[in-house]
Amino acid sequence: MTRQVYVNGAFVGEAEAKVSVFDRGFLMADGVYEVTSVLGGKLLDFQGHCVRLSRSLAELDITNPHSDAEWLALFRQAVALNAVVDGMVYLQVTRGNPGDRDFAYPNPPVPPTVVIFTQSKLGLAENPAALAGWKVISVPDIRWGRRDIKTVQLLYPSMAKMAAKAAHVDDAWLVEDGMVTEGTSNNAYIVKGNRIITRQLSHDILHGITRAAVLRFAREAQMEIEERPFTIAEAQSADEAFITSASAFVTPVIEVDGAPVGHGKAGPLALRLREIYLEEMRKSAI
Ligand code: PMP
Repeated sequence: MTRQVYVNGAFVGEAEAKVSVFDRGFLMADGVYEVTSVLGGKLLDFQGHCVRLSRSLAELDITNPHSDAEWLALFRQAVALNAVVDGMVYLQVTRGNPGDRDFAYPNPPVPPTVVIFTQSKLGLAENPAALAGWKVISVPDIRWGRRDIKTVQLLYPSMAKMAAKAAHVDDAWLVEDGMVTEGTSNNAYIVKGNRIITRQLSHDILHGITRAAVLRFAREAQMEIEERPFTIAEAQSADEAFITSASAFVTPVIEVDGAPVGHGKAGPLALRLREIYLEEMRKSAI
């Protein structure tokens, strides 16, 4: 089956899905994206992703080309056309194609470029590697200062992922001024007793949709939450650690820079949160 990809108003076969070389997404990384998970053919936390998309676009003065209801219809069409059971919907919106290269934004603005495609990953929620837990290394966080905007400038996170691969681990935690900011593509947490510690929201990190949901469920389950930065040494001496993201859900972290976290096995609180998160998300999926 040929994958059907949405480009600027129509679904076409993936070989026909093309954007201009003058698109500012291509030339300037001038665009934003969202990754929404699909389980059992339904979208997880669609509303959360829509709200963040609007915010990212507004921060960059790009007009949101669709209403939430229109995005929902397009996402559902992408899932249906590609018969996605488990997987994700990727959305990218760029400032569009001004027909030339210029640092200044086009004035008047040109229509944003919209691309939507799907990736199927059957059994996404039952991934054994995720249940076993990830090993991470730390690397310096040298990204730009507006990490709260979900832009497509992902070169440094890719380089950090390659450093992790070279070290035969699963991911890298980014460190700035001695404190962990987040993972390459996820938010980072440590656990001490019944207390979950994670960096507070600011321009320094992406405001994870999964983070918001997981902290809400954790509060409801009477877990304590402390929003503050933590160090690598603190993570290494914590009882547990974990990450969250829309596609990895809640995934335990069992080793940081070669040192086991807790007993070096997936922690019970992280696994419990993963269970709660998946159960609640399946219930509210649309
Ligand atoms: N931080 C970064 C840098 C990310 O790229 C992501 C995933 N896109 C996250 C955190 C997690 O965000 P979410 O839970 O919305 O997937």
